[in-house]
Amino acid sequence: MTIEVQHIRKQFGQFTALDDVSLKFADGELTALLGPSGCGKTTLLRIIAGLEYPDAGRVLLDGDDASNRHVRERQVGFVFQHYALFKHMTVFENVAFGLRVKPRKERPSEAVIREKVKKLLELVQLDWIADRYPPQLSGGQRQRIALARALAVEPRVLLLDEPFGALDAKVRKELRRWLRQLHDELHVTSIFVTHDQEEALEVADQVVLMNKGHIEQLGTPGDVYNHPASPFVYGFLGNVNLFHGRVNDGVLASGDATFHAPQFADVKNGEGIAYVRPHDLDVERYVAGGEGVAVKLRRAHAIGPLAQLDLERADNAQIIEAVIPNERYRELGLRDGETLLVKPRRMHVFVDQGEGI
Ligand code: ATP
Repeated sequence: MTIEVQHIRKQFGQFTALDDVSLKFADGELTALLGPSGCGKTTLLRIIAGLEYPDAGRVLLDGDDASNRHVRERQVGFVFQHYALFKHMTVFENVAFGLRVKPRKERPSEAVIREKVKKLLELVQLDWIADRYPPQLSGGQRQRIALARALAVEPRVLLLDEPFGALDAKVRKELRRWLRQLHDELHVTSIFVTHDQEEALEVADQVVLMNKGHIEQLGTPGDVYNHPASPFVYGFLGNVNLFHGRVNDGVLASGDATFHAPQFADVKNGEGIAYVRPHDLDVERYVAGGEGVAVKLRRAHAIGPLAQLDLERADNAQIIEAVIPNERYRELGLRDGETLLVKPRRMHVFVDQGEGI
């Protein structure tokens, strides 16, 4: 099913939670609604579901205006952060629930229900705990059961609100891979809310980055990560070093250093900031007059394949983070306190257009 929201506005008293939001979700696509706390992600999800009504704007499902349709008529399945399984029912009965409460005319026979629940439990790889009760399950297992329960009624849209938010990092990572696989098997149009950028970039076909009730950018994970439309997007999607300075004909002068950014030769001259990701910095031994920013190595964490370096700029004491292959770190034989040169391999320059950056 395709979903389209058009010019959605939602106020809570004086507060504008959604400000003229328009978006399309393609059939069978997995979209992440990403953004900081309070930016309106959950409100948008609830409006698509029909749990909340917008003050203005429309929700189209498969091209039909569903704005006045009740949640039960929208054929959506939900999974929330707090799994909300029925504690007094077995796993099997939890998954069967949506089928058992269907109106008599639509309710499948007991044999069909049993077969369907069995298949769903196999799909989420938990058929072996069908007779257990929710308190006897781990958090990750409960979330998988919540997903099986949502899928039982064959929703045409699956909405997930921070589905893995309450779980620890390792389980989250496992479950998001698994969600992607499951989605690739079922192809149900799915939208999930998260404030975890790694989760969104790893799992989704399309990422919608929200900020203060509006959309900052939407695109594939590669688009938003590699071509951020605003400083907000850059800063939100991972660690970043900021080099403040003045841009003149594609060159940013920042303290004692200059940054050449030929791809931004056409950006306007003015106060600017170069955004550089830690892994886009090359680190070299210091040579007087060498190109780059002179820094002092404060501390290195060199565990695993990557070494994370905390560096202090020689000219203004700003702390910079660089991530380089551990091999390179060992090859350079770096010691704390040593002076080095860092050079951005890639950067993005945003110039103040008078609105602040
Ligand atoms: P989080 O990641 O913290 O869940 P979110 O991006 O999902 O945040 P929403 O839950 O959509 O944010 O809320 C957006 C804003 O609207 C918040 O500032 C919130 O306080 C406000 N809000 C949401 N629901 C209501 C309500 N029923 N009454 C009043 N204000 C509300």
